Amino acid sequence: MVLELPKFTFGVGDRFAHQAGAQLAAFVQAAAVGVEITPVWNKSNREHLIIGSEPASVREAADAAILAADWQGRYFVDADHINLETVDRFVTASDFYTLDVADAIGCDPGNAAVEAFVQAHPELIGEIVIEGIARPFVTTREDIEKIFRQFGHAVKQAAEIYQHILAAKGEGNFATEVSMDETDEPQTPPELLVILAALADAKIPVQTVAPKFTGRFNKGVDYVGDLARFEQEFADDLAVISHAVSQYSLPKSLKLSVHSGSDKFSLYAPIRRCLAKFDAGLHIKTAGTTWLEEVIGLADSGGEALTLAQEIYRQAYDKRSALCEPYATVIDIDESKLPLPEVVDTWDSATYVAALRHDSNEAFYNPHLRQLLHVGFKVAAGMGDRYLKALQDHEATIAKNVTENLFERHLKPLFLG
Ligand SMILES: [Zn+2]
Repeated sequence: MVLELPKFTFGVGDRFAHQAGAQLAAFVQAAAVGVEITPVWNKSNREHLIIGSEPASVREAADAAILAADWQGRYFVDADHINLETVDRFVTASDFYTLDVADAIGCDPGNAAVEAFVQAHPELIGEIVIEGIARPFVTTREDIEKIFRQFGHAVKQAAEIYQHILAAKGEGNFATEVSMDETDEPQTPPELLVILAALADAKIPVQTVAPKFTGRFNKGVDYVGDLARFEQEFADDLAVISHAVSQYSLPKSLKLSVHSGSDKFSLYAPIRRCLAKFDAGLHIKTAGTTWLEEVIGLADSGGEALTLAQEIYRQAYDKRSALCEPYATVIDIDESKLPLPEVVDTWDSATYVAALRHDSNEAFYNPHLRQLLHVGFKVAAGMGDRYLKALQDHEATIAKNVTENLFERHLKPLFLG
């Protein structure tokens, strides 16, 4: 039996493996008001490399938090954005795998594969009526060939990674996500349909699929894009998934995965409306928002902790080009809006917190500073024990910020309204 995911799963990042308990407390609060959301601790290979951590540390922190809180629900540890080269170190620690095949998009799968796919799928050509989508998709054979030529190789690669994990872990011991979000072009609902048909052909029991959505998903700040268009495409994607599940015998638990880059607050209401409309499940990942709450908690604590938060900013500012480089496509920082470190050094706790905390009603909130610090966790990693000790010394204030952020700004608006 394939391992199936619960309806609502929420991915939390915990860069320094110190906040699992505080994060779990937000899920406990949600459960207390009647919404069952399953935590998934996600950490990508890239994050592990930047921090110098091992996948086992994520598992240990999650297990310890679950035990301490006596959490009776399920939980997962996600090997986020892995591929055939990087998956092996995650085999023991993870039970959720995000197969990142975005790099294979656009690699030609070859004429024979294209021909075979089109032959096998006459139902994809012509008028495709999908429940929940008012106007049927109309496609030609050339359209389907073109879409499969674009994505067929990526699906083949996903199948290779899936088979590799299956051989190592055995069926029923892990959930599979296929992600195509880290690419330039968003995938349209008809493209998603072809991708799902191909995933079914490749016998991947996919639990979550992460397309790239329309609009910008910059790290740690709100969505930039056309909200109405997003909502329409999101609804169409949900309709396509439901259609593909029955048409291609994909797992009934298949759902969309939103790699949010954290804090896409303006999308939460549209997403909530769409989920209700289709009675659909959701997986959403928020990777860096917790790390920023650590910095907020330090700044909030004042004294030496505030000084440390100021030092983190100074170093991040000085190394900004190197820190931003790996994230160039998912940040928009206007350097002229970044305060000078000398200025930040004069800030008191309230000023630092106001600049960093994601509250767009706060006039002093600075999304440029926030994005820089979001990608600046390498600086804290470089501080080693000094940073980790500060996390321990100021644990209560940090934990309060971590829990409140996840519950009040994420879980509540997304799942409770
Ligand atoms: Zn992603």
